[in-house]
Formats: sequence, structure tokens, C-alpha cells
Amino acid sequence: MIRFLDNKLFRYLSIFLFLNSSILPVKSSSALAAWEIKTNGSLELRTKSNTNLKAYFQKANQIYGDRFWVDFTGELKNPRTIKGNGPIKEIRLGKPNKGKTRLVIEFNEETYLNPLTWQMVGLDQNRWRIKLFNPKYPFKKIGEGLVGKRRGTIKANKNLIKTKKSDYDYFKLPDVKQNKFLVVIDPGHGGPDPGAIGIGGIRETDVVLEVSKIVKELLSDKGVEVRLTRKNEVDLDLPPRVSIANNTDADVFVSIHANASRGKRRDINGLETFYFRGWRGRLLAKNIQKQILKVSPGSPDRGVKQGRFYVIKNTRMPAVLVEIGFLTGRLDARRLEKTMHRKRLAYAIAKGILEYLNKVG
Ligand SMILES: [Zn+2]
Repeated sequence: MIRFLDNKLFRYLSIFLFLNSSILPVKSSSALAAWEIKTNGSLELRTKSNTNLKAYFQKANQIYGDRFWVDFTGELKNPRTIKGNGPIKEIRLGKPNKGKTRLVIEFNEETYLNPLTWQMVGLDQNRWRIKLFNPKYPFKKIGEGLVGKRRGTIKANKNLIKTKKSDYDYFKLPDVKQNKFLVVIDPGHGGPDPGAIGIGGIRETDVVLEVSKIVKELLSDKGVEVRLTRKNEVDLDLPPRVSIANNTDADVFVSIHANASRGKRRDINGLETFYFRGWRGRLLAKNIQKQILKVSPGSPDRGVKQGRFYVIKNTRMPAVLVEIGFLTGRLDARRLEKTMHRKRLAYAIAKGILEYLNKVG
């Protein structure tokens, strides 16, 4: 099995560049007016005057590539993603919280970056520049709006910049008591039963097996014992899946599936998590549902529901069946075919399980 994680996962480097500090009223529109990544590897920004900016860098982990982002005051109207080229994988504009704007630049895996040398330079009251990399090959500039120069030269104001390193632990999974818990992960279907078949022939069995294996890796790294009901494409009936959990007296059972809509409607997308009985099962479902939604922006929350599926009805411990998206849905299928998204989902499921174990275990 591919080992997706090593300890590099939680070793990150982040840079915190503080620029001047007057703060705009929370309800104002985004302070970001224009941005451009130039062919020489510099990012230029035009903002409202006297804007407060914060910039961060995070090294690649199993979920994202190297990322640099800048937070602006004021709320962005239309969150959007712009495809990159060359060393830039994509640019995302979003609102991390109400009243804020975030510009994220995600780099391709092979990009070599040296953020320790980075400096955000104020070119004038409302323009900023940061040199991110030296392009090895020509690439096309990417941007929105005019970062444009004013007439006449205004001296660069380098005094505004202070730099500070700090830890950033968004991707840290919660710790639980070591060697105390046993979790059974059940990748749905398998072998002659491929489960749902989605857009472009994407098969449920393949998606859920990969996600399940990553969940196992993530939980094992936290000192949780994990059994998979199947490790490859084998035909496995429902009763043995249940017996594995019941006979080992597992603390938690999680069956992982992906959905298909009737008539293969491409407009139906979304995530849902089922439990059969008990407040523990419901709590486990809620924790997982919350986390998987976070890594699936724009995909509908179909909720936490009671369901009578065999595997969650007949297991004796808190048990859930999670549907990680519609293979027949345009939005979900496009994501589910990517390993990166499968890793994000696995991370989210692992986080939901660990949070549950911390609350109840
Ligand atoms: Zn299924």
C-alpha cells in the first residue's frame, strides 16, 4: 500500500507578514481591487488605501500543495477559482470568515519555493509586490483587474513591513489516547460489485477503497487500531463486514460509500451521513458530516439521517454509513476522481472520528 503520510505532514513553515494596521469597517466591500502574478514570478496587488493585509505560507501536505495566501479586510462578493499555468496550480478567491477576503495561490508539487526570502513591499498607498519565485520556464501571467501604475513614481515604502514566523496548525488532527481504540472502516462494495458507476465510468468501489485506506493511515498515525473490512477488490457480503466489527468489539464502525442519483442526474450533488440508533451513533455521524462538508465547498449538505442499512443496523457499536458525494453529480464527480480530494475527504472522516472518540471515548 502506498504510504501517503510521513512525518513531514505536520512540519510546516509559515510566514506572517504584517503590513500597516488601520482597519476598515467589517461590512465594507473587499479591499482587494486587482491582482496579477507576473511572468517574472512576482505577485502584485492593488488594494484600497490604508488596507490591512496579512500574508501566510504553508508547505505542501497530503491535502494541498505549497500555498501562499493573503487576507484582506472587506467581504468578497463572488468566491471563485482560477486555473493556473506553469508553476501555479490554481488561484482561489474566497471568504474565510464573514467580512473577509482571501486570495490563495496554490503551487504545483514540483515548484521550489523559498519563503524565508520573501518580502511584501508596499509600492505606494495601495499597491504591493512580493517576489514568489524565479520562473524556470515561461508561463502566462494570471490576474484580474488592473494592478496598474500611477503616473509618476512614488517611492517604495519598505518601512511598513515586519515579518514574523508562527505555527499554523489547521491541518493537525486531534490527539486521542494511544492504543485505546479500535475502529473498523468498511469500504463499500468490491470485486464483482462495483457499487455506483458515475460520470466517465468512475466506480464507487475504487473511490471508497482509496479513501478508506487513507483514513486507516491517518488514524493509525494517531495510535488508533484500524481494521479494514476489505483491502482490495474482493467480493464481500454484508454479514462478514458486520462480524468483523462485532467479533472484535470495535469502538466505532464507519462504512464509506459514494452516491448515485436515479436517472444519473448531473445536477444532484451532496453529502450525507446515516446512523441507525443511539445518541453515540448520531454524534459520530454529526462529527463526520461536519468535517466532510468542510472539504467539499458548494456541495449540498443532505444532512445526518437515520437509515436502515444492514451494516449499521446489525453492528453493535456506534456505526455510521457516510456518502461522500454523488458520482453521477457534475460537481462531486469531478472532485471524487482526484486523489487530492479523496485525501481531503479521508482527512475529514478521520478528524470526525477522532473528535468523536475524544468526546465519548
Ligand atoms: Zn454504496
